[in-house]
Amino acid sequence: MPIAPAPHSQQPKQKEATKRERLTIEGAVQGVGFRPFVYRLAQELGLAGYVQNTHTGVVIEIEGASPLLETFKQALQERKPPQACIMSLGIRQITNDGNPGFTIRPSDTSDTDAETTALIQPDLAVCTDCLREMNDPTDRRYRYPFINCSHCGPRFSIITALPYGRPNTAMARFAMCHDCRTEYNNPDDRRHHAQPIACPKCGPQLELRNGKGKTDARHDDALQQAAQAVREGRVLALKGLGGFHLICDARNADAVAELRRRKDRPVKPFAVIYPSLQAVKGDCLVMPEEERLLSSAQAPIVLLRKKKMPSLAHEVAPGNPYLGVMLPYTPLHHLLICELGFPVVATSGNRANEPICIDEGEAVETLKGIADLFLVHDRPISGRCDDSIVRVMAGRETVLRRARGYAPLPVVVAHSFSAPVLALGGHFKNTVALAVRDRVFMSPHIGNLDTPQAWAAHREAADLLCRLYKAEPENIVHDLHPDYRSTQLAEERGGNAIAVQHHHAHALACMAENRVKPPCLAVAWDGTGYGTDSSIWGGEFLALKPGGFERVLHFMPFPLPGGDAAVLDPRRAALGMLYALEGDGAFSRDIGLPDEARWLIKAALQKNINCPTTSSVGRIFDAVAALTGICMENGFEGQAAMALEFVADRQVIEVYAFEIKNSVIDWRPMLSGLLQDIQSGITLGAVAAKFHATLASIILAAAKSVGEPTVLLTGGCFQNALLLECAVDELEQAGFRVCSHQQVPPNDGGLALGQIMATANTL
Ligand code: ZN
Ligand code: ZN
Ligand code: FE
Repeated sequence: MPIAPAPHSQQPKQKEATKRERLTIEGAVQGVGFRPFVYRLAQELGLAGYVQNTHTGVVIEIEGASPLLETFKQALQERKPPQACIMSLGIRQITNDGNPGFTIRPSDTSDTDAETTALIQPDLAVCTDCLREMNDPTDRRYRYPFINCSHCGPRFSIITALPYGRPNTAMARFAMCHDCRTEYNNPDDRRHHAQPIACPKCGPQLELRNGKGKTDARHDDALQQAAQAVREGRVLALKGLGGFHLICDARNADAVAELRRRKDRPVKPFAVIYPSLQAVKGDCLVMPEEERLLSSAQAPIVLLRKKKMPSLAHEVAPGNPYLGVMLPYTPLHHLLICELGFPVVATSGNRANEPICIDEGEAVETLKGIADLFLVHDRPISGRCDDSIVRVMAGRETVLRRARGYAPLPVVVAHSFSAPVLALGGHFKNTVALAVRDRVFMSPHIGNLDTPQAWAAHREAADLLCRLYKAEPENIVHDLHPDYRSTQLAEERGGNAIAVQHHHAHALACMAENRVKPPCLAVAWDGTGYGTDSSIWGGEFLALKPGGFERVLHFMPFPLPGGDAAVLDPRRAALGMLYALEGDGAFSRDIGLPDEARWLIKAALQKNINCPTTSSVGRIFDAVAALTGICMENGFEGQAAMALEFVADRQVIEVYAFEIKNSVIDWRPMLSGLLQDIQSGITLGAVAAKFHATLASIILAAAKSVGEPTVLLTGGCFQNALLLECAVDELEQAGFRVCSHQQVPPNDGGLALGQIMATANTL
């Protein structure tokens, strides 16, 4: 006879059972005060166990009563430090250990072959607690320009290897003093395990050098003298977080003009650092989203609309209604700019087409003749990182240059790569990217690959990503263009080089960051990209399918006299389009070219010499800018298109005619209408607005004819807020789902991500 189980009521009342769980966390959890937070949380709840950094993130073991474990896991998500980001949380129950107390264990570096995917934090703007201490005369870090804590300071720019720990950073050379070490070791301190921890006694120091590289002053004296030089109108090279800035008084027209002359940069706008948000608001219109971005830990350059009478010299951003603005983001910038109390130009410390300088010795050489003096320090920069640029468009943040504050956080994509893939990007605004599993780590902006210095920086950036993530990628992806330096660099690397068509890469980058799947329609418009038929593309509608694309529609190609030379001279694109419209009649129109140049272009067009054809919308923008007289020369890439956007009168909603036939968008009716308008003397603002509205109608008509419900807007043309907003409105009103860029630039800075994604079906 079976023994009946004891009735429930008679069971002795038990204490809540204890459990032990092992939590494996991946995400941005190193270098943000995550372990001290876990430690405090465990203490608070009376849980036992430990927390430890690993190659892939953080591992926690906790032991205690079940409900408390649940509370712990909930609080982990809800109360984590502001810069921490949990991307995945694995939970496994393990056997109890019974030992009391909770500890922070040293980083686990034992398994050197383990796959490394721990996220490296980007550099973060100085936090309010550190600023308060820096301004407190009784604090031991009073006026110390390298103050930082677990919530702020350098990360990417100082890391040399993973896991993120002091020996693997540029701070390894500084031995902590007794006070710093005490803070570093105290789990209750804000600087517990803050790897860049430093103080005036033990950390990096300032130094002022003259144009010959000789040291003129140190410490606070160096700062005061540098500030005085800026007040007097001189150009200061400042060693910042990820590289050098060139700084001068933004109100002083002579100083700004002199910097332009020395840097050989006649018109491209300069970015400006203001002493405070309030000062920014005095000069610019600041929307809430823009205010959030300016004050964020990323602290990017935000493009803001200038007010009518800004306090700045006209030379800062000549003829441009927008201004690139940032707030001080390092303690050093705070000290300098608060000392000055006025806005300063802060442009990258480099020569044209060279990467930003990072080393004080190198800077004195490279910036000779540009900077009058150099305010430097002895904390090495191991990861070069420019300022990021963002613009709020269609109500959302769009990163136009992805660097400090953003890189190298990965884009998590919908495909897991079985082996690492390296993408080398395009030619302009280059970035490189490395895929490890479902993470694509993108380098900060490197720039145009026109100089040996830029090629070296490109190689360093690729090597750094591979070294950090211990990847030896066999598969190297590059642009289809045979003459791009990045294509040659891919071949030099050996391994399996894979070419990806330029606009396909743009489309896939947009698809990846929006996590949409094919089929969808990509509108990929830019200045230049090598097509599969060896012609120059740039006005493309690509139907994306799993594993490939079909060029379903494109702008009618037109000749581009002089090829690449046309990029600098919008009048060439104008003549090319006119010639396609009206043949020899084109040459009787006056478009502001001297006779001799016009004859040469005429001969070239008639004999078809050095007149490659293009379907580029970027060049159509150039042509319209030249025909309307709004912009006759491109002093920098995109100047003509920007000028057209800025002049457009947003009240006008009429459009020009166009035709879509046999997969080709015939723009000739639009050009005829535009020429008539110019002749009839309607305002240029109206012409520019009608032109933008026409492009948006073309997108809508194309989307309707293709019929895919999801439309991607990508390529450099979509840095234009008016074009983007018109297109989004039209498409959304017609019921399409529209995806544009946000965390990855729509321009060629996003290509590397798309190149990686092109391999997703084969690797
Ligand atoms: Zn801080
Ligand atoms: Zn110290
Ligand atoms: Fe492009």
